[in-house]
Amino acid sequence: MKSIPSAAERTSFVQSLLQWFRITNRDLPWRRTYNPYHVWISEIMLQQTQMDRGVTYFLRWIKRFSDVQAVAVAEEQEILKYWEGLGYYARARNLHKAAKVIVGEFGGVVPCDYHRLLTLPGIGVYTAAAIASVAGNFDVAVLDANVARVYTRLYNLDTPVKEQKTQKRLREIAENLLPKGQARAYNQALMDFGGLVCTPKNPHCVRCPVAASCRALHAGTVAGRPVLGPKKNMITVHKVAGFIRWKEKVFIQQRKAGDVWGGLWEFPGGEIAAGEGGAEGEPVVQVVSEILQDTGLSVALVKPLTRVMHQYTHHKIILHCFLCTLEGEKTEPMLRSACSFRWVLLDELTQFAFPAGPRKLIEYVRASQPEFLTGDVHS
Ligand code: SF4
Repeated sequence: MKSIPSAAERTSFVQSLLQWFRITNRDLPWRRTYNPYHVWISEIMLQQTQMDRGVTYFLRWIKRFSDVQAVAVAEEQEILKYWEGLGYYARARNLHKAAKVIVGEFGGVVPCDYHRLLTLPGIGVYTAAAIASVAGNFDVAVLDANVARVYTRLYNLDTPVKEQKTQKRLREIAENLLPKGQARAYNQALMDFGGLVCTPKNPHCVRCPVAASCRALHAGTVAGRPVLGPKKNMITVHKVAGFIRWKEKVFIQQRKAGDVWGGLWEFPGGEIAAGEGGAEGEPVVQVVSEILQDTGLSVALVKPLTRVMHQYTHHKIILHCFLCTLEGEKTEPMLRSACSFRWVLLDELTQFAFPAGPRKLIEYVRASQPEFLTGDVHS
């Protein structure tokens, strides 16, 4: 692997990138003051969503939680509700825990010191570097998948990007290129550049401000950089879920802490083997027995509602949703996979945070089954 050979060429790359950033710098809410709390929230949110969506979530969050104290004293349920739709809920829970530490141990001020940041729940090397450099303008290089992509192309690195030796090389490059005293501008320029110009697919090489420094462009290998490892196969999981009605209410349960979706709410059910209703049009009677196993509640199947899909890491989850009614008088469940439950009115569902699958079911009910919202559903 070769380096960009001269200090002059490194300077040329850095100056071209900074010049590009001066012209294109987007007016983002956390860039107005570089308040460390704002930078922290934006960094965590933007790890899992597009910029436009991230800005919407950020503004909504800051309106409700104006400072770190407000986050620290909030109920976890409210934190999850404001995070709902972003996914990766462990990040929201860690953010909540970190806010408590900041209030309890750091006087309520989000630190800009890289090593201090690393002691906080949910803050790893990338996030600590981003907060320290963007909020504090400390000389700390950032390296995430976005930045790695830019550097593997710039240096035409031909080893798999996730390999340890490639990562070590990338870190050296990142530290070598970082212009002292300009980490705030440079790191943001790099992140914006990776998101807007040197994109994963079809990078905009014809209008690239650093094309002269790009070895992959000159070697004709852009499409093959970064070198990716073998793709993980997508695993398809079929689940059934019951929308159980009793009088005017519907049953929801809360997943246990430590679970993937711990603290979030869902409709009861369970995983079924492929073929047990995975096939189009095949009735899925397992929902009744799955609900019995999951909650101890006896229900009757009324009708299929919809089938929704969502993805979690390399899992594709197909949720087969059914309308059920409660049989008998027993409304108190014996929970197996959940830690608490509620019987709620349909309008009250908006007060709870749900993962993507159940949320799509709620949207379906609201959009296409208006009679559900008004009264009994014996059909
Ligand atoms: S020339 Fe293309 S591949 Fe190289 S840095 Fe610019 S956008 Fe990325």
